[in-house]
Amino acid sequence: MDFKGIEPLPFSAWGLGLKRPLVIAGPCSAESQAQVMESARALKADGRANVMRAGVWKPRTRPGSFEGAGDAALSWLQDAKRETGLLIATEVATPEHVQAALKAGIDMLWIGARTTPNPFSVQAIADALHGVDVPVLVKNPINPDLHLWVGALERLSRAGLKRLAAVHRGFSWFERTPYRNSPMWEFPIRLKAAHPGLELLCDPSHIAGSTERIGQVAQQALDLGFSGLMIEVHPNPANARSDADQQLTPEAFGQTLDGLIFRQAVPTDAMRDGLEELRDLIDQLDEEIVQKLGTRMDIAERIGDHKRLHNVAILQPERWERIMKRQLRMARHLGLSEDFVREFMDAIHRESIRRQTFEGAEVTPVGSKESLSKGT
Ligand code: PEP
Ligand code: MN
Repeated sequence: MDFKGIEPLPFSAWGLGLKRPLVIAGPCSAESQAQVMESARALKADGRANVMRAGVWKPRTRPGSFEGAGDAALSWLQDAKRETGLLIATEVATPEHVQAALKAGIDMLWIGARTTPNPFSVQAIADALHGVDVPVLVKNPINPDLHLWVGALERLSRAGLKRLAAVHRGFSWFERTPYRNSPMWEFPIRLKAAHPGLELLCDPSHIAGSTERIGQVAQQALDLGFSGLMIEVHPNPANARSDADQQLTPEAFGQTLDGLIFRQAVPTDAMRDGLEELRDLIDQLDEEIVQKLGTRMDIAERIGDHKRLHNVAILQPERWERIMKRQLRMARHLGLSEDFVREFMDAIHRESIRRQTFEGAEVTPVGSKESLSKGT
């Protein structure tokens, strides 16, 4: 992918005293003056968040739900900043939002997952920001499309913005996954691999969709070398007016951060030199692939036991066809060669069958007459 034209500065050059890992925390939405102030005070007391987030204009899937407090919330955020000294970040989706946020002295803007995929909206925001030097975070588009993510960054870069970072918040996916938004780590990894200078943040709150998995997702991001986190924190999540299920109390936020291990020391210039960093990503991914293969084979063995118990054939060709079709569809989507994915999946299938048959007896080729009758 051609990334010409995006020349973002590292956090260290943002002039805001930001360090890696950067922690951005705060409520999904700014709901009232009291809620904003309570959030800010709690974050200040914890001391680990450098920036407070709060949505002022909320993009909601269905009309009729809380769409943010609007301009009124900007003065609550100003007050919070004045009292606590926290930097403030909010989401912008239109030129009017940009103007109002800049006028209110908001320190950092982000483009949300529903705006990133719309080139008209992103261009309008980029035009409104022309000649303005403000940090802008770009969340990934809601659908898994790397080009839309890159395109949004390019539009901002061409408008002269240099303090740019990408935020990984997961993708809508048609299959059920344990997450609200599937992490599909390969997308941010490919973005980083193609452009090592771009700072990557992770928003584990919108990936997880519930409080339980936030720590796990955040740790995965840190292990992959992400530069920071954006986490939703609300003084009273049960009564939150948006995303109630995924917001942490300030206490739970503190505990979550306590449990995280920042494996990477601040990278030296030499480390940042590209190769080492990319090799770390590859090692981590290879390890995950083998771990996942191990889990998959354990499950295959259990399925084998189950089939034997119920006197069912080991090989179920229609099911395998469905799996293969799905994987090939995904391969096309990810720009992977179909032959490669087919070969890889065939090797996995052969090993699964070997594990399901007694003592790993010789397995005949998939689909052959002999194999179809095996285990009946
Ligand atoms: C948010 O951060 O509250 C938000 C709406 O996020 P996203 O655009 O990632 O859905
Ligand atoms: Mn939210």
